[in-house]
Amino acid sequence: MQGAPSSEVTWQTPMRVVLAAALVLCISVLFIRWYEARARAESDGQAALALIEQQPASVNVQAPASLAVAMKPKEAILSLSHCIGAQCTTMYAQPMAAPCDYAAGFQPQCVTLRSKANIGYTLMVRYDLLAVLMTAGIDLAVSGGVFGIVLLLWYLHVQKAQAKGKAAVAQQVKLGAERDPLTGVLNRVAFEAALKRHNESTKQASKGTDGCLMYFDLDRFKLINDTHGHIAGDVVLKTVAQRLKYTLGDVMIGRLGGDEFAVLLVDIGARDKIEQLGKVLIEQVSKPIQIDKVSDYVGLSIGAYMLKRGELSVGDMLHRADLAMYEAKRTGRGRLVFYEESMENASRGQAEVQSDLKKALEERQLFMVYQPELDATERIRGMEALVRWRHPTRGMVPPDEFIPVAEKNGLIVPLGKMILDMVCADIVAMRNEHIQLPYVSVNVSLRELSSPTFVDDVMATLNKRGLTPADIEFEITESTAMVGQAGKESVILKRLSDLGFRLAIDDFGSGYSSIARLLDLKVQKLKIDRVFVWAIGKPDFDPSLLELMIALSRRLGVKSVAEGVETPEQAAWLREAGCMMMQGYLYARPMNQAQLINWMKLQQGDHDFDGGVWAATQSTETSVV
Ligand code: C2E
Ligand code: MG
Ligand code: MG
Repeated sequence: MQGAPSSEVTWQTPMRVVLAAALVLCISVLFIRWYEARARAESDGQAALALIEQQPASVNVQAPASLAVAMKPKEAILSLSHCIGAQCTTMYAQPMAAPCDYAAGFQPQCVTLRSKANIGYTLMVRYDLLAVLMTAGIDLAVSGGVFGIVLLLWYLHVQKAQAKGKAAVAQQVKLGAERDPLTGVLNRVAFEAALKRHNESTKQASKGTDGCLMYFDLDRFKLINDTHGHIAGDVVLKTVAQRLKYTLGDVMIGRLGGDEFAVLLVDIGARDKIEQLGKVLIEQVSKPIQIDKVSDYVGLSIGAYMLKRGELSVGDMLHRADLAMYEAKRTGRGRLVFYEESMENASRGQAEVQSDLKKALEERQLFMVYQPELDATERIRGMEALVRWRHPTRGMVPPDEFIPVAEKNGLIVPLGKMILDMVCADIVAMRNEHIQLPYVSVNVSLRELSSPTFVDDVMATLNKRGLTPADIEFEITESTAMVGQAGKESVILKRLSDLGFRLAIDDFGSGYSSIARLLDLKVQKLKIDRVFVWAIGKPDFDPSLLELMIALSRRLGVKSVAEGVETPEQAAWLREAGCMMMQGYLYARPMNQAQLINWMKLQQGDHDFDGGVWAATQSTETSVV
């Protein structure tokens, strides 16, 4: 730690100053005491001299009787010698005390006083310097001792306070290093460490499971982040963490990164209890969250792994809970799913798709199929291009399986380029066969739109094939359209629109479009998601949403297209409700280029072809691919 040496320096420096000051003080005290003793000896000597000189001046000066009495209390005076010239007589002496003898050299304990009355008379006073210094020394030692004890106590106090401070800082650092700074729950490292401790704890092995690891992922979090910004995202994460803490109480909660949290529930082995808890958690987390001035919400998908201490490593336990969470996401979100072994195969399958997809791009295993869109009079008005992957060993892989993987790993950008190129080549091939398609709709993902070269790449592909923007429509999903509102994708959509490309909102009704946004985007079509069409005629069918979407398209002046029309009843209901276009197996399954040419020629042969009229001749995609 960097702070430690500096705190020692600050302690040592005043200590040295205090010791130096104590030394100076001692010397000064000793000097002052010596000076005082000498001054007292001088004044006592003057008094003694006055007594002696009361006698008449003579060579045989005697010590007056009163001298001994006067001197007695002044025990610091050891001897008095009266000298006339060099001849000295001892006037007073304590037992064992020697008189001053200047012949012996410098004697600091002697004072010589000269008589003012008799010239040549001197009095040599020997005083007890040693006793004075001893007394001073004892005084100093006592006060030094007291001072030392005080100093020592102070030092110990400071040391203790410092040690306490250091421990508090160390504790804070430890806590800080363990906590996620945004939400206050454990961070990934600390959570995994705690999980490891729990896993290794020596509890008597139980027969069944003895805990549950829950893995949480927020639904719609990316949308919140992209539409409201990252600060709003932080508010959501904090709120969710609070709600988890509030609902779960004193259990181990960790944030594993992004919008992923995990919880360890100890000594709980009943699945139904976990299911109940999952319901409460989903309900609590999904409540509206106030972000600035608007209110929004997120959902919660939960994967649960029922664990037994010591059975698996921490990594494997988390992997299993994570797989279950993915299954919860895949099967509708906002639910809890328990881990099952079969999920391992699915995850291995996803990893395989990822590595095989790269090869598929290189080896051109992908091709396009086309599905017509017809108007109310069953004339062909558009054609949707859908990608297909003929895998060398797995056979046909549906786009729902590999498009999300490609979106995740970024391969969607080269894949998208290849798709557009194939579509353009097919349009040219059909034109060469004298089949004029009104335009072809191409699906694009958000990830493709975020590529900075998207528009340039599209234009380069079109130019290469001699086509124009009028030949292409881009289908963007509703959530892509909403997300694009906040970022550079919005600019790209605007550029595409300005260049003359048509735009369609795909899977309309499955997201949360704002009408203002739809107007802003200048879309030509709203493609109503097939789940709404599928519901037509079913016992609990509620027509209000479908009617609303059709009415909205009309008011916005854009075409409504119903996806996934499979039965004549659905078609009749939609026509009656005013839906302008339809697409589905009822009319045609997606067809590859060769089949489409045949199919279109059939329409031309059977009818006076003016853009295409649907005939009863239906293709089946299974036979196509
Ligand atoms: P989407 O754009 O909504 O495409 C319509 C899907 O509905 C297609 O499935 C089509 O085969 C299917 N469909 C058409 N009529 C019916 C019907 O009557 N009943 C039923 N049950 N389904 C019908 P597909 O081809 O499997 O595509 C699934 C999704 O994959 C597409 O949904 C689209 O989001 C994505 N996708 C397909 N091709 C591409 C592509 O080239 N690029 C990108 N980015 N995404 C694509
Ligand atoms: Mg589509
Ligand atoms: Mg769709």
